[in-house]
Amino acid sequence: MPKRVPITVAHGDGIGPEIMAATLHILNGAGAELDVETIDIGEKVYLAGNSSGIEPSAWDSLRRTRVFLKAPITTPQGGGYKSLNVTVRKTLGLYANVRPCVSYHPFVETKHPQMDVVIVRENEEDLYAGIEHRQTDQVVQCLKLISRPGSEKIVRYAFEYARRNNRKKVTCFTKDNIMKLTDGLFHKVFTEIAAEYSDLENEHWIVDIGAAKLADTPGAFDVLVMPNLYGDVLSDVAAQIAGSVGLAGSANIGERVAMFEAIHGSAPRRAGQNLANPSGLLLGAVMMLVHIGETGVAERVHNAWLRTIEDGIHTYDVYKEGVSRERVGTKEFADAVVQRVGQTPQTLKAAKYKPVEGEAAERKQTAGHVRAQKDLVGVDVFVDWSAASADDLGSALAGLNGDGLKLEMMSNRGVKVWPGGHSETFCSDHWRSRFLSENNGGTVSHSQIVSLLERFTRAGYDFIKTENLYTFDGERGYSLDQGA
Ligand code: NAD
Repeated sequence: MPKRVPITVAHGDGIGPEIMAATLHILNGAGAELDVETIDIGEKVYLAGNSSGIEPSAWDSLRRTRVFLKAPITTPQGGGYKSLNVTVRKTLGLYANVRPCVSYHPFVETKHPQMDVVIVRENEEDLYAGIEHRQTDQVVQCLKLISRPGSEKIVRYAFEYARRNNRKKVTCFTKDNIMKLTDGLFHKVFTEIAAEYSDLENEHWIVDIGAAKLADTPGAFDVLVMPNLYGDVLSDVAAQIAGSVGLAGSANIGERVAMFEAIHGSAPRRAGQNLANPSGLLLGAVMMLVHIGETGVAERVHNAWLRTIEDGIHTYDVYKEGVSRERVGTKEFADAVVQRVGQTPQTLKAAKYKPVEGEAAERKQTAGHVRAQKDLVGVDVFVDWSAASADDLGSALAGLNGDGLKLEMMSNRGVKVWPGGHSETFCSDHWRSRFLSENNGGTVSHSQIVSLLERFTRAGYDFIKTENLYTFDGERGYSLDQGA
């Protein structure tokens, strides 16, 4: 008898318990070998005074099983409740969000009959590190952090996913024409790793035109990989234009734990009426079966589900007169899928899954990365100042030159304003002054920077932050300014 795989299940809120019951009924009907541990999350837990929506004891189950099948939850209205999804994702290091967006033409209405894309979204970094500061009266900032290991993990995951799922191409979206260092690193890592997968096509698009193309001609894409923010926005766009938000599942993959769910919420108005479509959660569960190595069961479930959709047995959200045959409730839909276990679709492409080989192939390190020689060559000192013109402030800060450091330029919101600024440039109260070594290209020390800041203090300037300027193997590790 095959060994049963322990998984953690949360039944969630609203339509959650109904669609979870339907999903588990189908998994059982297809012969999944699962040992289910149930945990409580969501509204009840929030309202019992736990602001993260998850009981401390639930983490033990997740650490033990390392596989989480989660129904949607309701986040109570009002402040103070932390997003459970963000908490789970960050706590368990779920770095990859994988969302297949497929149209089921001609059985489910869609504007894009050819659509079959998978969005692989980086899930931990980028602007979602949540590091924000208000620095002056007028200006706030959010730090965008992109790391080489983070980019390597997600890009490699996308290529491995493509290979396992018989996909042909991986496309990367970034905005590296503007963010040359952050998005530039993501793009560079993509190019490096793509070279290891010569069996797969690869391409890069600037995210704006790429997004337009995705919305207009999704058939041009296959697997897409992108940093967090673009992935967040575009995975919703892609799911919506496939015509079927209620049909999409998603996986959140980490090195130790993985979480599987539907992309929709708890639809409280539909709860308790045997109306909801369980398909999104079911397709999330299919991804879970592949993840735990039950690929045969995954294929049986997925193909029985495709056949049910083809047979026109539809819940209210996809039911359409003239296309659908029978309008059914949640339970009847699940029964219809179970009845079709062993059948395959006749028009739609049948699902075929390869096992995930060994311990996450994504964990492979990219070979040959040697730490670069890092040299400190200057400092950007940001100042809160509203009383002066750029020229006045520039002359005043140049008066702080000395001890081997010299004011090179000043900018305001990234636009160079001194020397030689333009009177039309709008200036806020957030100024950057860049000090470099007096010896062109020479290195500087931390103590020279500390002395400079003492001169700022004595002269009465409110320096709100500093950024050290480094070169890495002689290559500039900071951006120049627009207009520089
Ligand atoms: P929703 O996804 O719950 O509902 C949006 C619309 O889609 C509604 O008209 C709903 O009836 C319909 N719908 C959604 N799933 C359906 C299904 N399976 N079958 C049939 N129709 C379905 O989004 P919302 O109304 O913005 O949010 C409701 C609650 O869900 C909120 O508390 C929100 O915080 C929560 N939420 C949870 C998750 C999650 O747990 N992952 C995700 C999104 C929203």
